[in-house]
Amino acid sequence: MECVPSSRGAVYLVGAGPGDAGLFTLRGVEVLGCADVVIYDGLVNRELLRFAPPHAEIIYGGKHDRTRCVSQAELNALLLSKALEGKRVVRLKGGDPFVFGRGAEEAEALAAAGIPFEVVPGVSSVHSVPCYAGIPLTHRRHASSVTIVTGHDAPLSKAGRAVPSAPREGVKTGTLRTSADDRGAVGTPRPTNAVDWPALAKVPGTLVVLMGLRNIQQITATLIAYGRPPDTAVAVVSRGTTGRQKTLVGTLDTIAELARRRGIAPPAVTVIGEVVSLRGRLNWFEERPLFGRRVAVTQRSDLARSLVAALRERGADVLEIPATRWVPHTGRCESEPHAHAGSEIGGSGKTSNVQHPTSNIRSARPGLDGALARLESYDWILFTNPQGIDFFFERFFGVHQDLRQLGPARLGAYGPRTGQRLREWHLQPAAVAADHKTPLIMEAITKCGSVRGQRFLVLRGDVAHEKVPEALEALGAVVETVPCHAVVPETEDLTGGAASLVEEGADWIVFASALAIEHIHQRLNLPALMARFPAMRLAIASPTVRWALDRLALTPTAISRPDDTEDLVNAILKAEAAAHDAGTTDPQPARFRTPLSLEVSAS
Ligand code: SAH
Repeated sequence: MECVPSSRGAVYLVGAGPGDAGLFTLRGVEVLGCADVVIYDGLVNRELLRFAPPHAEIIYGGKHDRTRCVSQAELNALLLSKALEGKRVVRLKGGDPFVFGRGAEEAEALAAAGIPFEVVPGVSSVHSVPCYAGIPLTHRRHASSVTIVTGHDAPLSKAGRAVPSAPREGVKTGTLRTSADDRGAVGTPRPTNAVDWPALAKVPGTLVVLMGLRNIQQITATLIAYGRPPDTAVAVVSRGTTGRQKTLVGTLDTIAELARRRGIAPPAVTVIGEVVSLRGRLNWFEERPLFGRRVAVTQRSDLARSLVAALRERGADVLEIPATRWVPHTGRCESEPHAHAGSEIGGSGKTSNVQHPTSNIRSARPGLDGALARLESYDWILFTNPQGIDFFFERFFGVHQDLRQLGPARLGAYGPRTGQRLREWHLQPAAVAADHKTPLIMEAITKCGSVRGQRFLVLRGDVAHEKVPEALEALGAVVETVPCHAVVPETEDLTGGAASLVEEGADWIVFASALAIEHIHQRLNLPALMARFPAMRLAIASPTVRWALDRLALTPTAISRPDDTEDLVNAILKAEAAAHDAGTTDPQPARFRTPLSLEVSAS
């Protein structure tokens, strides 16, 4: 969406979906991208906050903050005041904004105040959570209707107490309520539309209960008391659509006790009816090989995209914890002719800002700018990573207008992903190394001919461990290395991934570079973290980064070929299978367990 400037504020009530970020809508992405303020609920996947612009103010508007409760009245006031300041406010709400969760009340407050608003529907947990548990809500042979209710308020007896078990014959079937106990947001009254549980017991089809876990005992007892067969199938699905999804299957008679014994925690959707039996055949999500496994990925999120997608595709719960942030190199950005190469550069007449400290070129065009001014003088330009290419061209087009000003140099890439990025710029690399290892990079370059006397520009980060410049010089090349970006440790935790890793651990942490290992270690103390969660294992996306773990006396369990997402995921799967065979993993991934439904019906 174009962010149309407006002097008047507006509020977007946006459904964030049930948990899986992939279920967010395109319209949601559009409006988030233009937000000045984002107010998000407790059930919202914080990964979605990445779609907000960096300047956006992000406010947690969950009802149950650890430190305080935010009332609905406070939230409404916040929405109004931000909009009245002329801001574009995105209110992110779990699931669909108009299915429970008080989105309608927020919209009413906005309408009353005359504030423009839009409601962006979301994928509701009502149907998506059962779907991820392999339970369709309707089926021609099993259910032709669906009833959706809140279980927030327990069915009450006539005396105003929760129904403990089947009521005696002749008890009036009305549902009464007390008003004192408001378990909803502070400062908001109990809803005045009570659920007619006794009547619901008679309704055919599927019954879906949201917010019902706390009252599951009373709910199931009431349904049985008013006529639903005790052996009606019931599923409780908690944290649905996420890698932490848990599904319990039982009957109206058994489910409350099972949920208590298993310690199932909210949020949970309860599905009651014959359709639950279809899970035996349709349980597509929990059968995935990495389901139940949590994997922390430390690459920057744009680089990690394919790995994150591949892991999620296999059912893993992925925590994105970028270790590093890349910024344009702003420091004293002088290009550095390599030690032995200095005189050759100076002597060859190719101006070097270091060789000619008094020249104008040095002060006017240090570092990358200096190199950009003499691009036609290089025989080779080597790119060390894909992001470096983007940083290079960002600056390139700040100086030049035409891509042809790149000059005649041959282009070389350290690794296939870097080569791929060049091709995406419609530039054909002359040499693409199979890996970041110096001998492989040298092999790729020297295959194109002798490097003696050839002038190389190596574009890389401000801290580099690679030894290619030395190797080229040893063969008689003239090498200039230019830092065009700096890699700094990431310290923000917008999505809460780092906090989750520290608090709950993970099954795997994946590193793609030595720098990522270093930065995560600086931030979280890796050996201490590993000691706290002994079952946690490490995967590295290239054998070349292993030394950084060795230094911390840590050992990787899975090692893949560089830049090969598929190989990395397979290495993890292989390690999982080996651990399973050796009986060392705990808990077992779901695919290795007896399906819960069988386990439960057997008990
Ligand atoms: N507007 C939301 C519902 C808000 S009420 C929607 O459309 O989904 C909150 C209830 O939604 C929770 O108590 C739980 O019953 C259900 N819920 C939301 N997300 C869930 C999830 N990921 N897994 C299980 N239940 C969920």
